[in-house]
Amino acid sequence: MNAVVAPTLERRGLMLVLSSPSGAGKTTISRILLEREEELTLSISATTRQMRPGEIHGKDYFFVSPDEFNSMVDNNEMLEHATVFDNKYGTPSEPVEQGLSSGQDVLFDIDWQGTQQVAAKAPNDIVRVFILPPSLQELERRLYARAQDSEEVVKGRMAKAADEMSHWAEYDYIIVNTDVEKSVADVQAILRAERLKRDRRPDLDSFVRGLRQA
Ligand code: 5GP
Repeated sequence: MNAVVAPTLERRGLMLVLSSPSGAGKTTISRILLEREEELTLSISATTRQMRPGEIHGKDYFFVSPDEFNSMVDNNEMLEHATVFDNKYGTPSEPVEQGLSSGQDVLFDIDWQGTQQVAAKAPNDIVRVFILPPSLQELERRLYARAQDSEEVVKGRMAKAADEMSHWAEYDYIIVNTDVEKSVADVQAILRAERLKRDRRPDLDSFVRGLRQA
């Protein structure tokens, strides 16, 4: 009897975008996902905003000056970029390309503007997940509990939350983050199914041909 040949697991990496208003729990969900998903790597954005206490350059963001940011844009080094809360944010392209070509999935913590730009450039590779807070009151409570931003900043972020949330329908999946563990499990389920999609498996054609010849 012929030995059963297991299919190779070769596939194109996917671009997993998580968007939400600040305080909906996206950062916590991303951190846990990255710990649990070996094939997932984080895209580290560049930003012109001030570093918050506890943040690390090169880990949370690349903190750059407006001039440095502009020259990255001018040199075509950004996959996408946008102004959020008066600061500029952008995704350096090169690490993303390296990750995807080495078979890694790449996680993006970007807003709706960046998501639209990535979707236009890579419509087949993007998987868009929007995270909603259970309520606006809970969102406000979380922003104050974080206590990293001043009251004025929190108020501004609450105002922007409604704007960010109005874009939920542009996403493929919606998660209401009432429980972090459940939300992480939901994103993992999305990842698992998306990884199995036929279009991401260039090896399937030859595998099925091999099956027919056997
Ligand atoms: P924060 O300043 O709280 O870290 O992030 C503020 C917002 O900017 C978040 O909604 C986050 O998703 C978004 N953001 C962070 N990095 C990027 C990026 O590279 N591009 C875009 N378009 N948005 C980003």
